[in-house]
Amino acid sequence: MEHKIVERSVLARVARLVLKSPNVAMVVGRTIYLSGVKKEEFLQNKPWVAHELCHIRQFQEHGFWRFLWLYLKESFRHGYYHNKYEVEARLAGTKEAMAAKQVKQTPSAPV
Ligand SMILES: [Zn+2]
Repeated sequence: MEHKIVERSVLARVARLVLKSPNVAMVVGRTIYLSGVKKEEFLQNKPWVAHELCHIRQFQEHGFWRFLWLYLKESFRHGYYHNKYEVEARLAGTKEAMAAKQVKQTPSAPV
């Protein structure tokens, strides 16, 4: 999926303070803003990447402004954790983590 990554983002730093999290990745449109984590580190964390790519897809599906509005509405009604867009993105991350686990568990062919 087409996207851009911005490191040491001020926007993500604000989110980091609000969420009291040591590192944050946040999506606006097709851009992933990072704070407290380097691009290389972030890209190695496949479940995390899958989570953020899911948000990019949500932006594309609903349209930029409409999705911002829907996301905020969900957050006000249900909070960050139960926001349905976060639930969906978390699921995408979990699926990716499970897929990675399965790959690791596959026994290699004896030589
Ligand atoms: Zn999220």
